[in-house]
Amino acid sequence: MKFAVTSRGDEKSDGLMQKIKNYLLEFNLVYDIDNPDMVITVGGDGTLLYAFHHYAHRLSDTAFVGVHTGHLGFYADWKPEEVERLVIHIAKTPFKIVEYPLVEVIVRHNDTTKSERYLALNECSVKSVVGALVMDVEIKGEMFETFRGDGLCISTPSGSTAYNKALGGAILHPSISSIQMAEMASINNRIYRTVGSPLVLPQHHTCLLKPQSEGDYHITIDHLSIIEKDVKSIQCRVAEEKIKFARFRPFPFWNRVRDSFIK
Ligand code: NAP
Ligand code: MN
Repeated sequence: MKFAVTSRGDEKSDGLMQKIKNYLLEFNLVYDIDNPDMVITVGGDGTLLYAFHHYAHRLSDTAFVGVHTGHLGFYADWKPEEVERLVIHIAKTPFKIVEYPLVEVIVRHNDTTKSERYLALNECSVKSVVGALVMDVEIKGEMFETFRGDGLCISTPSGSTAYNKALGGAILHPSISSIQMAEMASINNRIYRTVGSPLVLPQHHTCLLKPQSEGDYHITIDHLSIIEKDVKSIQCRVAEEKIKFARFRPFPFWNRVRDSFIK
């Protein structure tokens, strides 16, 4: 098996990355940063997000596993003290793969037929560069509402514990193939009206955001920040692709939610 190890870049994570690499080499595994079968990230959830985007072109051939050197993460759920155990697992035992849904985002423009396609592991957020965001929201080809406010956040189930949660969105179990749209400070009065609740859309229910005026929009895809010029529409739906995680032991999602937010 070919593997790669990535680090957040701090001293502790770099040290642990080196340790994991040496252990796996001793077990005769092959270090291959270009075409790894398994990617081990050391740092936090942000480190795994970064690795996801680095290897997004070969998701079907890559399994991820995350070690956290700070607080417990949702993607990075192995403790530094457990790496010996983890390494033996990786080298010696067959492991289960669990797959989590992703959001596919397609941005189309007015002046060109060229479009951009992105995959997000946590979420896509859309904000205006100047003034309030004004977007017609279509769901499954039907006009739903005109949104006015700070922005919209379209998250995956595993991203529902991140930005989405801060916006009052629900926490969704990653086995539910869906996307969630949460509002950021919508303007609601006698003239302007939005639904006001986060919406959960199943697979194949596309959400299309159409600006009412021409302009540039600030889009984030996980940690990536992009200014999209002259936007015609932003299309979001559950992606065909999924991310694979290597599972060596049960650590149920709800236990991670409890251990991260309750105690
Ligand atoms: P960051 O500023 O370090 O991320 C903010 C926090 O979100 C960190 O504590 C990070 O954990 C945590 N996080 C990331 N993914 C998560 C998940 N799926 N569930 C629960 N917590 C999660 O930046 P980053 O590490 O590059 O992460 C980018 C993410 O930050 C975005 O995708 C977005 O979800 C989130 N964000 C949140 C807010 C907000 O809550 N108001 C605003 C902007 C962005 P680690 O410390 O382990 O990395
Ligand atoms: Mn981070």
